[in-house]
Amino acid sequence: MTSHQPDGDAPAAPQGLPAFADLLDQPLTRYVPGKSPRSTVSLLAQDLGITTVGQLLDHAPRRYIRRGKIQALTDLVAGERTSFVARVESTSTRRMRSDPRRSLTDVTVSDDSGAYLKITFFNAYSAQKDLPVGALALFTGKPEFYRGNLSMAGADYALVDTPESVSRATSDSGELMPIPVYPESGKLTTPRIGKVVQQVLLTADLDAIQDPLPPDVVAAQGLPEPGQAYRDLHVPETVAAYERARHRFRFQEAFVLQAELVRRRAEHAAHPVAPRPPREDGLLARFDASLPFALTPGQRAVGEEISREIAGTAPMNRLLQGDVGSGKTVVALRAMLQVVDHGGQAAMLAPTEVLAAQHHEKITAALGPLAMAGQLGGDPEATRVTLLTGSMSAPARRKALLDIASGAAGIVVGTHALIQDAVQFADLGLAVVDEQHRFGVEQRDALRDKAGQAPHTLVMTATPIPRTVAMTVFGDLDISTLRELPGGRQPIGTFVVGLAEHGPAWERRVWALAAEHVARGRQVYVVAPKIGDDAAVPPFESLRDSIETQEEDLEPATVTWLTELVAAQPELRGARVAVLHGRQDAPLKARTMADFAAGNTDVLVSTTVIEVGVDVPNATLMIIADPERFGISQLHQLRGRIGRGEHPGTCLLVTRTPPDHPGRARLDAVAATTDGFDLAEVDLSLRKEGDILGASQSGGRSGLRWISALRDEALVARARAAAEIVVHDDPQLTEHPALRAAITRVLDEDRQAFLERG
Ligand code: ADP
Ligand code: MG
Repeated sequence: MTSHQPDGDAPAAPQGLPAFADLLDQPLTRYVPGKSPRSTVSLLAQDLGITTVGQLLDHAPRRYIRRGKIQALTDLVAGERTSFVARVESTSTRRMRSDPRRSLTDVTVSDDSGAYLKITFFNAYSAQKDLPVGALALFTGKPEFYRGNLSMAGADYALVDTPESVSRATSDSGELMPIPVYPESGKLTTPRIGKVVQQVLLTADLDAIQDPLPPDVVAAQGLPEPGQAYRDLHVPETVAAYERARHRFRFQEAFVLQAELVRRRAEHAAHPVAPRPPREDGLLARFDASLPFALTPGQRAVGEEISREIAGTAPMNRLLQGDVGSGKTVVALRAMLQVVDHGGQAAMLAPTEVLAAQHHEKITAALGPLAMAGQLGGDPEATRVTLLTGSMSAPARRKALLDIASGAAGIVVGTHALIQDAVQFADLGLAVVDEQHRFGVEQRDALRDKAGQAPHTLVMTATPIPRTVAMTVFGDLDISTLRELPGGRQPIGTFVVGLAEHGPAWERRVWALAAEHVARGRQVYVVAPKIGDDAAVPPFESLRDSIETQEEDLEPATVTWLTELVAAQPELRGARVAVLHGRQDAPLKARTMADFAAGNTDVLVSTTVIEVGVDVPNATLMIIADPERFGISQLHQLRGRIGRGEHPGTCLLVTRTPPDHPGRARLDAVAATTDGFDLAEVDLSLRKEGDILGASQSGGRSGLRWISALRDEALVARARAAAEIVVHDDPQLTEHPALRAAITRVLDEDRQAFLERG
């Protein structure tokens, strides 16, 4: 075997290795020996899935400790921020006197000077775990006098190997080198990870890393080279150095992702579909003529956008966002009719059986004679609207499958069953996905596969998506927005009812209001965060009672309990009460919902199964118990179920939390505005990053390591502009092998599926 020793003085890879395409893909074991299962290399693989040089280098420090001057414990001065290296002598944990549910951990440390210092940690759990007796660590904090002794309340810390390894680290400029702190896992502490990283930095030729960013982009953005960036990330001499490095990796991640999204978009456009322009005498035209209302300007504008795309040959990939009640369904139906007018089929996917059934019913009703193909009184050009769900009887399902395969069904409405079954479409031209945040990526992909080629796709969501998320996560979709609600929608008044501060009279008022609505012939939703079971109904006669008695955290209110409370209200005696939740079987749910829609039920006690799309115009009051257990957009969706008819709606957020509870801010926000877009902004500011991407209808992880959906809008936009130029000149990225490699590296299978939505 010939050996491939690099020329010159570049550090040699260990002997006899085949030349790898890129250093980043090389196995870590080539640079860091360690065969035993307890070696750091083995642990990295087992615990963190790190097996290549690239994965290790991408395991970026979670933060850096910016140190003060290192001092001996004898030299500490009260009130002055300081750093010292000390060993843990003892630890003890005790309950907080002010709040016995929480604990404190006292850690006593000492150093060579012989002095001791007590540090009190409020995050007792992690301090206990991270700082066992005997551990040597660098601490940074501000000592204070407390009862005559110097002590510290909390400290930043990082385990270190030897005191020397810290004091040595001063950069040329005299700045004390920041100390990286890695995401740790079990035995993989920061010093252990740091050691392996150092070894790789010493032995591998980082300057040989092929940059996924084209040189002109690197120059234009003023970024460091990848090798330098990795060195500065792991062994920064200054704060500025690691900040530059982090900036390079943020930009790189944005660019690689955008390049792939732009490339896919171009690829879609390159597979033309049959043009289906609107027909003057078609079903669409006749449907428009029969509409009992005028389209809103927004519906008209979006409708034209969509119509133009269906008339063209490039497959549409569009996200339609519009608040609850903004009238997305009619927009979708018009698009479907344009396809049907050319003999094509359109499928509408709903997240639940209840919704699928309701869409089927509404669409059939809205089309009237236009949906009565082959029936008495049907229009000569009529089509058929077919429902397919998992709970249909075998004969009904066979008939539906036949209609779909033969093309007799122009419009098919269904749930997952549309995808899971052996459903064959004659000519699927348009897939509409309603309320897609309940819909996984694979489902959308599967539907698309059924068409043989990519059909036009229209994805509808009631949750407004912030621009950055739209760009990063939905970068291959066009976005349309319905901003106004159709006239005639009734205002919804939302009120926070704080039982903790207001006493039992307020709760009685809540139930009395429900009775008033029922007496006027209106209907009421009562929503609980959990189902519960009969055996475990709490022994309280009101929500309010439970606050006083339960010492630990309040158990969430349940459907079972609320049903009992409703039944126990004297004013509501005689009201017809029904129960709806996810543990019931589909036919029962459908029957309950149909009864409520028909006005045969006065009060519906349920979980959030009623959340999406359900339309009962006569429902005017919604009582949500323990609303702090829901997110902003969920509450907003929920209350969108009321005020859908001629009567204004009222939504009561009945909370048992004290006014200073962190969840209260969300409730106040929901009470303050009914504008979904405003709420989305509030939501962003109140939520953590992970939640945003989690809730961004991705149906999976975001796959983003560096970019922040909150902060990096401008950076993502720059990366996209740069990526568009590159892909435009080189659609297959043939000239950019390092970029292709980076795409492959970044997009593991999950993320591939995730990007292929649409
Ligand atoms: P969503 O966007 O929440 O899916 P829907 O499509 O269910 O909203 O529409 C809500 C209600 O508004 C439906 O009853 C629908 O018939 C009605 N609607 C839709 N467009 C208009 C309009 N332009 N004028 C009056 N009512 C409309
Ligand atoms: Mg809808």
